[in-house]
Amino acid sequence: MGRQQERRTLRAMIRLYCKQQHQSVSLCEACLELLTYAEARVAHCPFGDEKPVCRSCEIHCYTPKMRERITAVMRYAGPRMMAHHPILGVLHLLKARRGRRGTLRASAEGVGRDKRGESS
Ligand SMILES: [Zn+2]
Repeated sequence: MGRQQERRTLRAMIRLYCKQQHQSVSLCEACLELLTYAEARVAHCPFGDEKPVCRSCEIHCYTPKMRERITAVMRYAGPRMMAHHPILGVLHLLKARRGRRGTLRASAEGVGRDKRGESS
């Protein structure tokens, strides 16, 4: 799982959003622009195949306007992905969880705190 997976998820989410929000059979112009933009961001992501999902990424490479638009898509399509694309939806959720846990400083602090908590 890597960039290829990320792009498939992106495409599925934007397609679902456009179909239901814009009543568009194929992607409308605005959504196609967003998808093209998002795919270019994924392609240029310095993390490569190790990239975390964008939500938990530290770089936030989207422009504020595009970020707003992709956030709207994710917020709408995210929960619905489970019904329409169960496998992609689950994989995305799993990846999001791993991404959060993978933040080195946060997990190190978390472990330290847990240990102190248990011993006292
Ligand atoms: Zn659309």
